[in-house]
Amino acid sequence: MNNVTLKKLNNMLAYGYAHTAYYKRAFDGIIQKGNDDIQYQSECLSLESYDKLPILTKSIIKENVSDFISDEYEMQELEIERTSGSSGDILEIYWDKSSKIKSLVSLWNERKKYGIYPTSRACFFHSISNRVVRDNIVVTSPKIILRNDNHTISFSKMSFDEKSLQYYYDSLVDFQPEWIMCHPTTLFLFSQFILENKLCPFKQLKLIELTGELLLPEQRNYIKKVFNVPVVNHYGMRECNGIAYECEYGNMHLLDRNVYVEICDDMGHRLPDENCGVIFVTNLSNSAMPIIKYKTDDKGMIITRKCKCGRSKTLVLSSGRLNDLIYRNNQVPLEGNNLFYVIEYINCFYDNTIKQFKIVQNEIDKFTVYLALEDRKYIKDIEEIFVQKTVEYGITGVTWDFIISDYIAPDENGKLKYFTSKVSSSF
Ligand SMILES: [Zn+2]
Repeated sequence: MNNVTLKKLNNMLAYGYAHTAYYKRAFDGIIQKGNDDIQYQSECLSLESYDKLPILTKSIIKENVSDFISDEYEMQELEIERTSGSSGDILEIYWDKSSKIKSLVSLWNERKKYGIYPTSRACFFHSISNRVVRDNIVVTSPKIILRNDNHTISFSKMSFDEKSLQYYYDSLVDFQPEWIMCHPTTLFLFSQFILENKLCPFKQLKLIELTGELLLPEQRNYIKKVFNVPVVNHYGMRECNGIAYECEYGNMHLLDRNVYVEICDDMGHRLPDENCGVIFVTNLSNSAMPIIKYKTDDKGMIITRKCKCGRSKTLVLSSGRLNDLIYRNNQVPLEGNNLFYVIEYINCFYDNTIKQFKIVQNEIDKFTVYLALEDRKYIKDIEEIFVQKTVEYGITGVTWDFIISDYIAPDENGKLKYFTSKVSSSF
């Protein structure tokens, strides 16, 4: 850890202890007693006490939200950010204005390299569920929902029929976005529409930032071909904003002035570099609501070799969202990611014909495979290779039901989870 990050982490530990009920309780059992002055005790907090801190989960925060709010702030005066939540459950994160601005500095410094500033015209895509919660209204006909100022436009991810896509395109021709930020699958589908209809990309576009889902190389290449601007990957979450941002050499570097990131096992024990594990984050900016040693739903590893851009902390994500495990009869479960490789393999040989996929394990030996295909002439071959390849990945003695379509709608949270298991455990 560099000195700036370490100093910020120590400050956050001391601040959390002195100003929040949750961390006062948590550290009371850890730090040496002998002097009852909270100021003195908080100054004694260090990385060593951090290591002894219990891991923080979404459900712990949800059950005790007010215990996380600093006594220096009034809860009702704070800004609320809501997470989309991979299982649909929403977490509220409270921010004070100045912490929020501080937290976003690292991200804007990255975007600035592409000529993108907070005032640049931005295009986003939103899901209905987010809108419903955010504005407390039910949106029944989601087309363009948000155009509340001259530099933001947002479209619904739920309407992707030809008519809606044409409407989005026409609106963007008027709006002339300078950058687009959205999930890879969403922009992939939109770029496909643009290319198939021989439409011109947007003249003033300078940057595409993809986030929130695993970015498939095929999707990135396709999007780049259509828009012909830099396409960068950004890993972040509303609990702390930006976590890692891709450099010009294709490596995701940690934004370590905003977050402290470590890779741990499930129990929160730190793993050595270059080991894959669960990503834990500490927000170094938000004093209104300190979030320390927070267990995310994501997996990855940290590599410390120096990149050509001069930075050395690279985060390699093992998937955009943690997939469920594949459960097998009396055998150790497998990573859901294996199914992703099967799809990748097929795409290599069949012109990236699988545009989207979703696989559900309904019972220990019964799976449903939803595939959105570019070209249906390969269906039989694809089904056959899929079954063959899954045997290679250790999934045997099961039946696969294939459901082919042109488009797979995202889940409630607006994202597409590639693999879901309805089987809890069999081992
Ligand atoms: Zn780099």
